[in-house]
Amino acid sequence: MTVIFKNEVPYIEGINLNELVKLVPTPFYVYSQKSIAEAYFEIQNKLKKKIFYSIKANSNQAVIAFINSLGAGADVVSIEEMQRALSAGINPNKIIYEGVGKSQSDIVNAIQNKIRQINVESIEELLQINAIGKSLSKNVNIGLRINPDIDGNTLDKISTGRKTDKFGIEFKQLSKLCSLIKSLNNIQLKGMSCHIGSQIFELQVFNKTFTKMKEGLEILNSHNLNIEHLNLGGGFGISYDDNIKDFNFSDLADLINNIFPNPNFEISFEPGRYLVAKAGTLITKIITTKHNDKTNFLITDAGMHTFLRPAMYGVYHKILSLNKNDKKINYIVAGPICESSDILSKNIKLSEQKTGNYLAICDVGAYGAVMASNYNSKCLPTEIMICDKKYNIIRKQENVSSLIQKDIVPHWIKN
Ligand code: PLP
Repeated sequence: MTVIFKNEVPYIEGINLNELVKLVPTPFYVYSQKSIAEAYFEIQNKLKKKIFYSIKANSNQAVIAFINSLGAGADVVSIEEMQRALSAGINPNKIIYEGVGKSQSDIVNAIQNKIRQINVESIEELLQINAIGKSLSKNVNIGLRINPDIDGNTLDKISTGRKTDKFGIEFKQLSKLCSLIKSLNNIQLKGMSCHIGSQIFELQVFNKTFTKMKEGLEILNSHNLNIEHLNLGGGFGISYDDNIKDFNFSDLADLINNIFPNPNFEISFEPGRYLVAKAGTLITKIITTKHNDKTNFLITDAGMHTFLRPAMYGVYHKILSLNKNDKKINYIVAGPICESSDILSKNIKLSEQKTGNYLAICDVGAYGAVMASNYNSKCLPTEIMICDKKYNIIRKQENVSSLIQKDIVPHWIKN
């Protein structure tokens, strides 16, 4: 959480939010640059491994460019994300492209941009990449994304490493894949990777995953195949709730050293959430209040169109009121969208509120703005970066005329 109250006045870094809401229409996302840097250096200093930022968590150009300036590479899960990473200045040699559905033209595009490696998700894809490499007379650098069949003990919807999930190469196919790799002339095996899900806290889960990856390396070695890079994924949990501690990187560092004591390959990670979640705050205005049955509703201009996580995953995010008073009331905070699931928080205790007041939804920097939509013809929100006492709009709010202009009414429909 980055909002700090000084004499009851809310600030992010040196910017007074009560002043900011007078200048920028709500709802808007604000990111603290300092918080992103702190998270990056926390991981970097404890793990001392290369970081490929998973840009799906927050793909604003300014966020990517800043994380690039700290020294990270990028992990992209679509060719469109690759284009974002390139245009934010990330060196192609520091971009890993994975993703469960790569089209022919996506693969061609990735090869032509000379990125670090393409992570393969299946035997069919391996053959396809080799065939494309052949047609372009290229030797394509690949990694193998392994599905280790490990449950991350996290939300079902953000689990990716069980054998029933759609991601990665089934572990038991690895041996067959090794033989195939040796028979193909237009691919070059560079790495192996895994990512078993997001919001993971249990060290034991990483223990099982890394041990399985070590087993995978032994299978490669038994086929006389070696790798240069082992990417152990992301998924580090953050506390959305004050009662839970953030992920412990010192324990993870010990675990890596125990499992891979003297690696002859480079070990890296691809976190997203941990780097940006806490940096982001969503500022929203109360557009009306209502009392139904025994419930006090605050209806805000942010909703599931601005911030989907509560509606999609049923998860908790702390909400603060920018004004304070002594009378505390239980509220449901709901967005303006015509859906009953458009709830930002159920049963939250806040200072008594009225229409026109502002609320701050905390820890929304990851999987926040990137999941915003135009549902109910709402426009995507403004995003702002704060650095000390400076702020800059890093994404302009859309307007409805630009949305309408994208639609085309066929000539045979007459008014
Ligand atoms: N790598 C891949 C392949 C992912 O799908 C994700 C997100 O789920 C990540 C990395 C980043 O995960 P997290 O944001 O939990 O660190």
